[in-house]
Amino acid sequence: MKIKKSLAHRQLIALKKRGHLNSHENQYLRYLNLGYEGEISFSNNFDRIMSEFCTTIHDFRFIINGSERQIDTLAIFNNKIVLFEVKNYNGNLVFRDNNFYTYKTNRLLKSPIQQINDTSDKFTQLLKQLNYSIPIEKYVIFLNNNFHLFNAPIDEMIVTNAQLPAFLENLKKNNFPLKSHANSIRQRILMCYNEITRQCDVNYTFNTINKRIFCRLDGEKLVENGHEKYICKQCGSFYHQKDIIIEVIQDFQSLFPDEKVTYKNIYDFTDGRISYYKLRKIMNRYYERIGTSRMVYFVDKENDH
Ligand SMILES: [Zn+2]
Repeated sequence: MKIKKSLAHRQLIALKKRGHLNSHENQYLRYLNLGYEGEISFSNNFDRIMSEFCTTIHDFRFIINGSERQIDTLAIFNNKIVLFEVKNYNGNLVFRDNNFYTYKTNRLLKSPIQQINDTSDKFTQLLKQLNYSIPIEKYVIFLNNNFHLFNAPIDEMIVTNAQLPAFLENLKKNNFPLKSHANSIRQRILMCYNEITRQCDVNYTFNTINKRIFCRLDGEKLVENGHEKYICKQCGSFYHQKDIIIEVIQDFQSLFPDEKVTYKNIYDFTDGRISYYKLRKIMNRYYERIGTSRMVYFVDKENDH
């Protein structure tokens, strides 16, 4: 399963492109981007090394008793499930009284150990509902090479990037090649996947948002340049019409999840910079068309996910 950015993350990216984020929100977006890169890098690495011994679900999102939780990587072995919380912190932290503080400013951070403990409790409840009683192990992985934890506890739950190769080797050594029942457990767990619909904290409406089409890299307005192409005059990036239209639709879906993707909505969202004719061509080809004549709207094709 492909790791997808959360809705709040996608909203912040679409808002940044349209110039709606203040410096604090931009900083939070950078933090989310770094975390996302970490998740991708860890999941690829883990699957490459461990696929003989376990089957994985990455970015597993579930809701239990009204609480939403997310697990970066969940690895199902023959006789246990291992949960991983991946952190891509860049810089130095201090561990003190069971808490994490930034080294420079002594700011208290949300503890990733508490986070994984709590997620693990919730996941145990989920397994119980599925009538499984499987031992769970959990680890926090600090992936970034530029990360250092002062006073690191001698706690098996924390694995830094330097320790990761030996940790994975050990995990391999202590487990046997995977048997088929693990895959059926995986399927049952996957059936409990819930999309998390938490939105970002920035206020915007369709009327107040900046419309047009924007450069993905610097948020500059794009202008037409030749046949079915657009250019950013700031950084010189070229965009194909198809990519731009699909990106605009994705941004619209993230920012306005309750609105329907119609020709008019997308036309207005780009401030009329892309003609109805061009929108029609791409939307009919790459999206599933629902309804007829004036009521027509579009949804993602099923195999896109
Ligand atoms: Zn640009």
